[in-house]
Amino acid sequence: MIRRSLLLLLPLLVATPAAAQADFRSCLAGLKAKAAPRGISGSTFDAALAGVEPDLTILDLMNNQPEFKTPIWDYLGFLVDEERVGDGRDAMRRWGQALAAAEARFGVDRYVIAGVWGVESNFGKDIGGRPLVQSLATLSCYAPRRQDYFTGELMATLKIIADGDIAPAGLRGSWAGAFGHTQFMPSTFQRLAVDFDGDGRRDIVSSVPDALGSTANFLKRAGWQSGMPWGYEVRLPGGFKAGLLGRKNKRAVSSWAAMGVTRVDGRPLSGDYPAGIIAPAGLNGPAFLVTRNFDALYSYNAAESYGLAIAILSDILRGRPGIQTAWPTDDPPLSRAERRELQRLLTAQGYDVGEPDGRVGSKTREAIKDIERRIGMPQTGRPGGKVLSVLRRG
Ligand code: CA
Repeated sequence: MIRRSLLLLLPLLVATPAAAQADFRSCLAGLKAKAAPRGISGSTFDAALAGVEPDLTILDLMNNQPEFKTPIWDYLGFLVDEERVGDGRDAMRRWGQALAAAEARFGVDRYVIAGVWGVESNFGKDIGGRPLVQSLATLSCYAPRRQDYFTGELMATLKIIADGDIAPAGLRGSWAGAFGHTQFMPSTFQRLAVDFDGDGRRDIVSSVPDALGSTANFLKRAGWQSGMPWGYEVRLPGGFKAGLLGRKNKRAVSSWAAMGVTRVDGRPLSGDYPAGIIAPAGLNGPAFLVTRNFDALYSYNAAESYGLAIAILSDILRGRPGIQTAWPTDDPPLSRAERRELQRLLTAQGYDVGEPDGRVGSKTREAIKDIERRIGMPQTGRPGGKVLSVLRRG
């Protein structure tokens, strides 16, 4: 997909830059015609798009299919590590009043709001730096699929500017257009963002209270019920049938209890709501009873692993233990601190892996593959405990 889209664009964008520019300008003229009926004036449109050039690196990112499927334990090891828990405790102390107010107004547990904040943007530290207008204009004109979707997001972004909610310079985010402390898409912002600090503007970039209130409002509108847990880790009885698993295969908690499902510590299940049971790594790994509130977390990003990261982070922030059951692997996941250590050790071995930032990109994966080859492991490129311990031993 990626190669094909680039090949189609190459004659246009490389061979004849002037023609390419004309093509982008003509695409923008078409978008401008769509903006007016949505309440975006011609002058707002022109000011926002003045001098904007397409950013074609985004098409690579859009089409980048990771060859390496991240195991759930690595995904959670990265998102729920000691560092994020420590940062989360600091953030919750600092913004305790706003979190309490959001919990009171929307009925959403403050630890869960903090969990979303931590997973989405590392408590505001990783909000993305790409200008939204440029990214979404590029995708509106050149995305190989879903151009209409991205045009809708561009219009929603321009509406944010037109309404004066957020200054254009603050509208930066991921290549796909998610932005702010809680990484809303612009259309989600339009539907669900709230002014929670009372200054008359909805600003999830510069105002932490606005971002936290908006997240609470999102979860409430997604069906979050006050007082109900997201779920908890459970122990399944011997002979439990895999066909019973599934977030949507909900039964009364009492029905699961009657089958012999218990809490992970062996205590009986409690609660009188419908719940499903998920086991992301199969019946030999951890299992979780999940309620409709887990569905609300799921709706934030449409992935169970994502919902689980928020759920577990929020539990640990609350002072509960994390996941008790071992994942079915003998090669444990690494925290971000351990990933940085791994990268430093690879650098010391003469590999070029760039800055040791804990983000495992293609250079780090290639270096890991080489280490795996040298020690006779299958070459996966995965940052795991085995490779790290080999490197520690030198
Ligand atoms: Ca505000």
